[in-house]
Amino acid sequence: MRHLVLAATASILAMTAAQAQVTEEDIANDATITNQIVTNGMGRDLQRYSPLDILNRDTVQHLVPAWAFSLGGEKQRGQETQPLIYDGVMYITGSYSRMYAIDIETGREIWQYDARLPEGILPCCDVINRGAAMWGDLVIFGTLDARLVALDRHTGDTVWNTQIADYRQGYSYTAAPMIVNGLVITGNSGGEFGIVGAVEARDVETGELVWRRPVIEGHMGMLNGEESTMTGELNATWPGDMWQTGGGATWLGGSYDAETDTIIMGTGNPAPWNSWLRNAGEPTEGNAGDNLYAASRLGIDPATGEIRWHFQTTPREGWDFDGVNEVIPFTNAAGEGRLATADRNGFFYVLDRADGSFVDAWPFVQNISWAEGIDDTGRPIYVEDNRPGDPSAAASGDRGESVFAVPSFLGGKNWMPMAYSQNTGLFYVPSNEWGMDIWNEPVTYREGAAYLGSGFTIEPIFEDYIGSLKAIDPDTGEIIWEYRNAAPLWGGVMTTAGGLVFTGTPEGEFIALDDETGEVLWSFQTGSGIVGQPITWEQDGEQYVTVVSGWGGAVPLWGGEVAQRVNYLNQGGTVWTFRLPRELAQLAE
Ligand code: CA
Repeated sequence: MRHLVLAATASILAMTAAQAQVTEEDIANDATITNQIVTNGMGRDLQRYSPLDILNRDTVQHLVPAWAFSLGGEKQRGQETQPLIYDGVMYITGSYSRMYAIDIETGREIWQYDARLPEGILPCCDVINRGAAMWGDLVIFGTLDARLVALDRHTGDTVWNTQIADYRQGYSYTAAPMIVNGLVITGNSGGEFGIVGAVEARDVETGELVWRRPVIEGHMGMLNGEESTMTGELNATWPGDMWQTGGGATWLGGSYDAETDTIIMGTGNPAPWNSWLRNAGEPTEGNAGDNLYAASRLGIDPATGEIRWHFQTTPREGWDFDGVNEVIPFTNAAGEGRLATADRNGFFYVLDRADGSFVDAWPFVQNISWAEGIDDTGRPIYVEDNRPGDPSAAASGDRGESVFAVPSFLGGKNWMPMAYSQNTGLFYVPSNEWGMDIWNEPVTYREGAAYLGSGFTIEPIFEDYIGSLKAIDPDTGEIIWEYRNAAPLWGGVMTTAGGLVFTGTPEGEFIALDDETGEVLWSFQTGSGIVGQPITWEQDGEQYVTVVSGWGGAVPLWGGEVAQRVNYLNQGGTVWTFRLPRELAQLAE
């Protein structure tokens, strides 16, 4: 009899589970629903701010591990994912295009999906993945061979699987997709191979392409199976045929501003890195030679893929200052709608939320060498001597003049997401203080081969630290506090209404800082470097925090002297989930 009752209960539970479907409403309200996380960024504005305050400056000392989950296998390397939480299950992506569903109460695996990757994939910067999207019964992620895969969230079975682009040309995919009004929005990766960046929207139920927007001028867009409009104006800012292999990979997943109904996507370096092949002259006011829309932020209409506005951070880019870093919509202290972004080029920009127009910019790292500042139109005031020299004019004929430029091409800030606190009105920016020797070389395009025309060595600029987490006032650019770290920071940041800022270090420490002072209030050694993105949620009245630990990413591969400085760090691959037990939360009150 007892057995029968249990069976009946189980089938009712199963029915309930089968009915739970991630809706547009769930996605739209992800920033305020505290018992689930169904978007990358903890809301499509990417603020990474939780309204939870069970865990706060007083109680965080009692935060303890609840469970740990190993990604297993010999496949370790960088774990840059942000977990999702829905209906009692955590969904995480792992290195080598893997996905896992984990029971959030016990840490037990429910299913695992391993993408069968072909030989010859061309990921630039480690075999990482940055997370998934959810819709209905689907959990959707991209793979290193530039495919988009939708899995049944209950079973891990493939529902649809479609190609974004041809990996043999150098395309790959590592970002978390984003869902807007039933469309799954993706960009692409591979800007170091002369590919062309594009933003695409697919029907989330079928994977069918709805629109496509290449981000380099001269290329034709698509809408509902037909050509739509040309991006920009052919040869307005690119010479000859260079636009055909013009780069501009988006790398990251973009944000969505519901207030203006705009997708905001960044674009990477114009290809090749050697800027003299794209513009042999000085930067011009007329914008000829700027190489649009590379190294830019684009505001895109989610229904049609049309570009509504653009803001180029580094015209005629020549240091690999990809313009891909996330753009976060927010309301400033005066109640004005704003967008904030911390660019690889070392400047923190504030734009108008309505049309992306320039408001202000300030340096957020020290010793920036390539520009004296940003003028009142938003254009850099270039230091022409800090442009790597023209190899065609060099006496040797094979290498242009080398310069020491700050920041390095890995950026004042790289992909790792900053966070905004609605509590303090500050941005918390994971930055790095480093420079590089960089020079140009002749190069010609070959499909599937690196298309740089540059050489480089990254170097530290300070003896005792590279990483620097900064609290930045978006009204003034003032750095309110700074937390310095020996190794370069490469993990995401999260803020909470409890007055806490969470992030991790390559040395393996998962830390919580006071959002007003930068004081470290709590830390936990995870056993490998943290390059993942933390989350927090509430379950049965208790607050949980999760971060994935596993050192890797671009620094060990491309970091030059910096990579040597941190070559002692161990690889790994563990999901760490922490919990504030109810009785300990009350103790601290
Ligand atoms: Ca790049």
